[in-house]
Amino acid sequence: MSDDMADGEDRKFELPASANLMKAAAMGECPRCGSRALFKSVVSFADRCSSCDLDYSRFNVGDGPAAFLTLAIGTVLAILAIVVDQWFHPPFWVHVILWVPLTIGMVLYGLRIAKGMLLIVEYQRSAREAGSLETGGTRLSPGEDQ
Ligand SMILES: [Zn+2]
Repeated sequence: MSDDMADGEDRKFELPASANLMKAAAMGECPRCGSRALFKSVVSFADRCSSCDLDYSRFNVGDGPAAFLTLAIGTVLAILAIVVDQWFHPPFWVHVILWVPLTIGMVLYGLRIAKGMLLIVEYQRSAREAGSLETGGTRLSPGEDQ
C-alpha cells in the first residue's frame, strides 16, 4: 500500500512518525515488541526486554543528549526566571521552589525521551541495514567495536 514498502523487502518495522517516536520513548516502549520495558528507572535503560529479550546493552546511545538538553533547558529556564522576576518581583524562596523542581523534572524527562528516541532509531536503522540478519545473533549497533 505505501510506496516505501514496495521494494520487496520483508520489513517487520517502520520508522514511526516523530510524534509516535517521542511517545514511544516517553513510555519506554521496546523498539521490537512495544512492551514498556525499555527503562529500569527514569533515565537508565534496562539490560534487556522482559518480553522479547532484546539486549539493550548493545546499543550505544552515549551522553550526547545530556549536554545538549542541559544547555537548552538551562537557557529556557533562565529566561523564564528573569521574566518572572521582572514581572512579579517574587521573594527568593519562590524562585527556589519554582525552578529547582522544574529544572530537575525537565532534565530527567527530557533525557528519558532523548535517550529512548536515540535507542529506538538506532535499533530501527541497524535492523534496516542488517536486513533480516537479526536472528543470527549478530550485533546490530553500527558504532560498536568488538
Ligand atoms: Zn521487547
